[in-house]
Amino acid sequence: MNGASTFQDSYRLMDRRRRMIPAGSDESAAQVPAGQPTAVQTPAGQPSPPLRSANDQSYRRTVTWSLRHPQRAGRRVLGAGLRAVSAWGILAVVMFVVPATAETPFQTIRGKHITLKADEGSEASLQELVETFDAAVPQWERFFELPAGTLDSWSVDAFVIRESELFRQSGDLPAELNFPFGFASAGNLWVNRQPSDYYTRHLLLHEGVHALAIDQFGGAGPSWFAEGMAEMLSVHRGVGRDVQIGIVPQSRDAVPYWGRFKRMSQRREENRVPTLESVLAYPRELNSDVEAYGWSWAAVMLLAEYPEYRPTLLRAARRGDDPSEAFSAILRRQIGSAWPIVQARWRLLTATLDYGFDWQEERVPLSIKDGVWNGSPIHKTIQADTGWQSLGGRFAPGTRLSITPEGRCTLAEEPRPWVSEPPGVTIHYAMDRPLGQLLLCVLPNATEESDFLEPLRVQPVTSRLDLVIDCHCWLLFRINDHLGDRGNNRGGYQVTVTAE
Ligand SMILES: [Zn+2]
Repeated sequence: MNGASTFQDSYRLMDRRRRMIPAGSDESAAQVPAGQPTAVQTPAGQPSPPLRSANDQSYRRTVTWSLRHPQRAGRRVLGAGLRAVSAWGILAVVMFVVPATAETPFQTIRGKHITLKADEGSEASLQELVETFDAAVPQWERFFELPAGTLDSWSVDAFVIRESELFRQSGDLPAELNFPFGFASAGNLWVNRQPSDYYTRHLLLHEGVHALAIDQFGGAGPSWFAEGMAEMLSVHRGVGRDVQIGIVPQSRDAVPYWGRFKRMSQRREENRVPTLESVLAYPRELNSDVEAYGWSWAAVMLLAEYPEYRPTLLRAARRGDDPSEAFSAILRRQIGSAWPIVQARWRLLTATLDYGFDWQEERVPLSIKDGVWNGSPIHKTIQADTGWQSLGGRFAPGTRLSITPEGRCTLAEEPRPWVSEPPGVTIHYAMDRPLGQLLLCVLPNATEESDFLEPLRVQPVTSRLDLVIDCHCWLLFRINDHLGDRGNNRGGYQVTVTAE
């Protein structure tokens, strides 16, 4: 609730008759009394709108002009009229114009899965929002592994708001609803227009994911799961029919005002990165906390991006009607003995995740079955085109070993590639370290379940390094490079590990 740097949205469960069902015990958020209509409405008694229709090669557009009546005794649902119009297979554009004394023009654009009403924006820009939403829905359907066609007839009424008072007057925004960014219920979502087109679009998709979860699964689960899932399925590149959801942004410029990484990086610098357990225990209300949204997103993404956890994540989504602690306890139980691996991957992810992060390069093979090193020499090539790479085994405390790096790799850079050796290219830096420098991470097998993670222990290996292991751990290496810039790297360094 405190300004543009924060993010708060809310969702509440509503049944198919669009009555509000309070989510759990939280009474602080706005609720719509049972039976109060919340669908798109237009005042009763208003003049029957004259209909002008035009027909061109690709689509017929109907523009309905109507006058907002000052008295709102009784209402009728506009959506029904729009649906009747769309039964002709046409794209409807409905514009309300109020008397000249109080100009409040609304535009309503109906797509396949969304009827969008806005008080600001060009028709083309609103059309783009509708097309984006319509293109995201089949991607959501695939992600949730719903039977093909499940969402064919699913749709929402969406309101993109500049002046909330206009929507209150028109009956589209219940007086009880107050939110700084967005709000979703079954079949309805509201988004306050943001300083960037990206962020407005992002919020529309984000609230759409909540509405979808309520419709399909009876709810969206506890806050970390609801917000993490909504974030993951709303971060996008492209617009309109080309939109691609579920990406990691490549640059800050691609997602203006989204801002999650900024706060997460600050926390990294402060050594205040939450443990996974802390995220799973987030309170029901996240109170505009952009950081909590970011870590929730990372947690859901972790479970979605490793194929072995994804079935558990999807099963959890289907228990969305349970926002309680039991939801997360069940999820953790289903992951079972692999939980320490999830925790270890969480440490790596939270230490690395930033613009340009690429899951293709950053999935780390770790296993609870990794054997303890028996002291025989290990020879391994650390590839330049991949992120953290484990030596494969685990190491016991008290072990003394020597690490010897050698070799060359090529790092694709503009204007020309750099050939690097383990110390790195010291005139060229990435992530505050020389480009191409060989890095070692001592990753403990066990993660303490306190509030914050112990900082990841990373050190350069520029020449022979003698090491005394002080905890049960994996040893991981990576060659330093900018995130998202490994695609054309070639070669790697040979690492030899011997007992001291
Ligand atoms: Zn949300």
